[in-house]
Amino acid sequence: MRIMVLAETQKALTELCAGASRISPQVEAVLIGDQLKVVADTLWQIPAQENAMLEDYTESIAALIEQEKPELIVVEPTKRYKLIAGRIAAMLGITVITDVLELEQDLVAKRMVYGGTAIRTEKAASGYTMVMVGSGVLKTESVPEITVREEKPVPFIEPKIRLKRIAREEKEKVTIDLPGAKVVLGIGRGIAEHKDLEMVKQLALAVKGEIGCTRPIAEAEKWMPKETYLGVSGVIIAPEIYIAIGISGQIQHTVGINRSKTVVSINKEKSAPIFKQSDYGIVGDLYKVVPALIKHFG
Ligand SMILES: Cc1cc2nc3c(=O)[nH]c(=O)nc-3n(C[C@H](O)[C@H](O)[C@H](O)COP(=O)(O)OP(=O)(O)OC[C@H]3O[C@@H](n4cnc5c(N)ncnc54)[C@H](O)[C@@H]3O)c2cc1C
Repeated sequence: MRIMVLAETQKALTELCAGASRISPQVEAVLIGDQLKVVADTLWQIPAQENAMLEDYTESIAALIEQEKPELIVVEPTKRYKLIAGRIAAMLGITVITDVLELEQDLVAKRMVYGGTAIRTEKAASGYTMVMVGSGVLKTESVPEITVREEKPVPFIEPKIRLKRIAREEKEKVTIDLPGAKVVLGIGRGIAEHKDLEMVKQLALAVKGEIGCTRPIAEAEKWMPKETYLGVSGVIIAPEIYIAIGISGQIQHTVGINRSKTVVSINKEKSAPIFKQSDYGIVGDLYKVVPALIKHFG
């Protein structure tokens, strides 16, 4: 089976190509310009165009897919690639499946629907299909050795209307590797003040963990980068241990953490839903429990 990979970030490109190679050795990566590097069976190179935005390459990618007809196109679910995948699907009359949680050999996909409250199993109606796969979904351990067999140029097709960039602001770089972490501490609105993150950082240091959070901590409070919130619209993780600190356990969050081997939760409310998802629960004030854990592990 031929699998084509489209990704905007280096991390996702590496992960998706590695994960795809466990499904089939015929992994083909589409590279725009020379910013991203990866080892795949075939590298399709679209030359970078001056002042072009990623969206301006939609026609070129669509033409490549139409010509090559790979059975599966695995796409990083960034905002821009979601838009591009939708446009390509409409242009070529093929299926795109978003928010994929599991992908089986025969291209049956499990995906989240209704904001993560249900999981639907789908199979593409078209002969070939695009799936949007987030970080941590495709397994990347025991990847077979891959070498680049071919590098092939892809002609750039000028879009009818180009996007024009009118401003550019650099985002803060996020170095936290949540999908790769063995221990993850998740913080929620039980944390009362921004400065209290310091206490969680101390615990993270003591247990050698990375820190993630719930969506309100990243989007409403803006205490953590958006790339660190876990759940249906954030990152999906599968660590050895997940420690939920002051998190209620709404389904939109827990779908991102329920592949963890062991879940430990700290919440002052005995009835908090997170305890139903937990292997170990500590009913108590996190401002007492976290310092006690730092003392124990530190
Ligand atoms: C379409 C959609 C998509 C969403 N996607 C996501 C997503 O991807 N990820 C995500 O996280 N959320 C997502 N949400 C939001 C989600 O529904 C919840 O609102 C959110 O996860 C709740 O965050 P929280 O647990 O931090 O806050 P809360 O629900 O307010 O819970 C705070 C918890 O802290 C406990 N607490 C308070 N003080 C203490 C203390 N001193 N000690 C111990 N415990 C304490 C409380 O008992 C409570 O259980 C989404 C929502 C929608 C509608």
